[in-house]
Amino acid sequence: MNKRVRVRFAPSPTGPLHIGGVRTALYNYLFAKKHGGDFLLRIEDTDQGRFVPGAEQYIIDSLKWAGIMAVEGVGVGGPHAPYRQSERKEIYCKYAEKLVNEGNAYYAFDTTDELEQLRKELEQAKASNTSYSSHVRLRMKNSLTLSASEVQQKLAAGEPFVIRIKMPENEIVKATDLVREKIEVNTSTLDDKILFKSDGLPTYHLANVVDDHLMDISHVIRGEEWLPSLPLHVLLYRYLGWENTMPQFAHLPLLLKPDGKGKLSKRDGDRLGFPVFPLLWTDPSSGEQSSGYRESGYFPEAFVNMLAFLGWNSGTEQEIFSIDELAEYFSIEHVHKAGAKFDFDKAKWFNHQYLIRHNNEELAYDFEKILAQKGILVNFEYIVKVVSLVKERVNFVNEMWQQASFFFVAPESYDSEVIKKRWKDEVPTLIAEIKEVIRKIEVFTAESFKDTVHQFVEEKQANMGSIMNTLRLSLVGGSFGPDLPVIAEMIGKEEVVRRIDKALNTIK
Ligand code: GLU
Repeated sequence: MNKRVRVRFAPSPTGPLHIGGVRTALYNYLFAKKHGGDFLLRIEDTDQGRFVPGAEQYIIDSLKWAGIMAVEGVGVGGPHAPYRQSERKEIYCKYAEKLVNEGNAYYAFDTTDELEQLRKELEQAKASNTSYSSHVRLRMKNSLTLSASEVQQKLAAGEPFVIRIKMPENEIVKATDLVREKIEVNTSTLDDKILFKSDGLPTYHLANVVDDHLMDISHVIRGEEWLPSLPLHVLLYRYLGWENTMPQFAHLPLLLKPDGKGKLSKRDGDRLGFPVFPLLWTDPSSGEQSSGYRESGYFPEAFVNMLAFLGWNSGTEQEIFSIDELAEYFSIEHVHKAGAKFDFDKAKWFNHQYLIRHNNEELAYDFEKILAQKGILVNFEYIVKVVSLVKERVNFVNEMWQQASFFFVAPESYDSEVIKKRWKDEVPTLIAEIKEVIRKIEVFTAESFKDTVHQFVEEKQANMGSIMNTLRLSLVGGSFGPDLPVIAEMIGKEEVVRRIDKALNTIK
């Protein structure tokens, strides 16, 4: 690689950043890190009509949460500032003019009605290309059909215009994509895309190409939805005289719905109950909320690890990678061509893997906050112990309460299935008796509790499973949870006795 690696994530702030967007940012970041290059954040906000307040901040917060940090760009600064396209307005105009002056673009003055009329006609005629293109441009109101003085007059009068690329006719544009290899497109199938508008702003295509050139971008790594724009971009590089330093392109596979076909959308998340956004998003106009990975209890490391594997493989059996390890292994050759099916169970599995690797103190710190919200204030060491006992059983810290509430409070209710199966015949009488024996234990530990129960069962020639399960029902309310003697030691003798009493008084 002769050019310094410089890649960019260039989102448009048109709404919350989808996880597919975070994956694009991540691959760019990993690629830069792998090659000792730079990762930039550029905000492409030239489409004022689609601007959504709060979306830019959301993008910045999401990347920060995921640990995908830019070394240059919006929020960081750098030698090519500003990095927000709406603040670079003055830059694009001269390139649009150059394209017009050299005959590669033209002014068009067609009104919305005229364009609508054209579309209808082409559709009725079942034309293969129904857009404004080389096939129809000579029928329209533009600087190719109007005289130079008419054009000047319109511009001087401030008539609304756009600048369109003059797509060559019947020419093959070739491009190389690092994921898909060779691409060839006949320009007759393409339209005369708008590059610049009379509001003084370029469209995505022009601004994107100009900025990638000016910012010395070496590789453009972006979503597959931009692949159809590649021939146009290649032509723009050519017409602007930058073909020799054009970046290399890699288009990433789509993220697909977990079930069926098609792109993963917000609706799939709502329908199947999982987040498609990194952070909680509140729509500024409707107030509608969309859930986020962060608020659902994901560790950013697990989220990043999960995303990395949606469209890429490490070529090894290993699945758990820190972001630094991912960078070490990352290569575009291992990016898949086929779309990546989103798998929610796998996402949870990743979080579980990170949760069990977390140290108990850290988890206890988070769990302590959940307990505090429930008004439960206990010794931190106790929480650490509880966490160590239940971490294997949960995917998220916020699931711990469900698995561990009995360490803090007596059960409110008892599992009816277990009652039906166990709470019968002489069992309640035996439980009442064993309670008295437990009450007499002097040094109450998991060991002494266990020995006492064993001895009792032997003496009475009772069924061990039946007694243990009934005791468990009394202490935790069901048939779940870690080792019973350990639970007994944790909650203490008085509480064990109290809970057996409560069960005897409640269960009929
Ligand atoms: N602004 C484009 C987007 O939002 C960027 C595409 C590109 O990376 O070229 O996806």
